[in-house]
Amino acid sequence: MTNWQELERKYLMSTVERLPVTLVRGQGARVWDEDGREYLDFVGGWAVNSLGHCHPVVVQAVTEQVNNLIQASNQFYTIPQIQLAELLVQNSCLDKVFFSNSGTEANEGAVKLARRYGKCYLNGAYEVITTMGSFHGRTLAMVAATGQPKFQEPYLPLIAGFKNVEYNNFEAIKAATTGQTCAVMLEPVQGEGGVNLPDDDYLAAVRAWCDQKGILLILDEIQTGMGRTGTLFAYEQYGIEPDIMTLAKGLASGIPIGAILAKDKVSVFAPGEHGSTFGGNPLACAAGYATLKFIIDNDIVGKVKRVGEYLMAGLEGLKPKFPFITEVRGRGLLVAMEFNRDIASEAVMACLEKGLLVNKLKPNALRFMPPLIIGNQEVDEALGILNKALSSLVS
Ligand SMILES: *Cc1c(COP(=O)(O)O)cnc(C)c1O
Repeated sequence: MTNWQELERKYLMSTVERLPVTLVRGQGARVWDEDGREYLDFVGGWAVNSLGHCHPVVVQAVTEQVNNLIQASNQFYTIPQIQLAELLVQNSCLDKVFFSNSGTEANEGAVKLARRYGKCYLNGAYEVITTMGSFHGRTLAMVAATGQPKFQEPYLPLIAGFKNVEYNNFEAIKAATTGQTCAVMLEPVQGEGGVNLPDDDYLAAVRAWCDQKGILLILDEIQTGMGRTGTLFAYEQYGIEPDIMTLAKGLASGIPIGAILAKDKVSVFAPGEHGSTFGGNPLACAAGYATLKFIIDNDIVGKVKRVGEYLMAGLEGLKPKFPFITEVRGRGLLVAMEFNRDIASEAVMACLEKGLLVNKLKPNALRFMPPLIIGNQEVDEALGILNKALSSLVS
């Protein structure tokens, strides 16, 4: 049998510490490796497989599109792109859409849009305030936006124009605002940084401050959007509206896509000022349209809220048995479990051996981001495996 893991080491740059499993198939919330072993998938392609693996509506939409038109130049009109944009606008507080291929690209475009707005309306202001512990992507400018030294230090000097301030500290944003500031960019809930929830009034305070100063609020909903936190977009839970919002991960259930959404008054790109060869391509947009339509038509967000609460309660229920669990936190199906010691790697491996995929969020924390279509039964199954895995660690 081919040793894929050895070939990987030979041919691929080692940018990631992979787990020793080669996946070949997925269906719903389950995946199978090359030996036919089945796993319950609570990583979900990194919060991407919103409708699970190979959901029939996505497979059908992609199959039909693949047989009709895969790619066309953006100098022509294509229908899936327009349909997906319309559905996004109808179901959000924003008015205009630009499609990219990934999250980091969507954020780059959002910052470019904010800089254009700064040139048009804010005397050339260009600085963007972001927060410590954030994650906005891997391109050079987004490394500067991402307030985490481990992502920045290997690439110094950083691109100019970003200020990283403490998260969940409104005063810090006020203090960092100058005449050069064009926008504040935040994740409503920090995902990669630790599933960090802000105080209830933080986002409203930042919104009011941006209004007072005439600067823009960009929400990076790449991880929190598309129903992940129990509402279609996380901003709905904080009673505010962003001027710009970015999406990617769950938008097309696994086909690469990203999107910038903006209010009309902020949509200041002129023809030629921004663009993408693949962005908005018919294949990706057909998958995105099928995904969003299914989420809306089947009240998936209501389901996420209920199943997410059930998952959090179940994880809380493990605390008495495993006193080293210090905290369970999250919203919807974006949930973290923190330990008082660095056992996350061991926990991930023990779960893997027992048939459950979970994510190591930090040396001392796990993250759960399963497909949005799971039910209580899958949660019970995952809790059972986690229970056994944690037991094996302490014994
Ligand atoms: C994953 C993520 C990104 C980057 O998305 P890519 O598609 O990996 O470029 C940006 N922001 C947030 C909040 C994310 O979770």
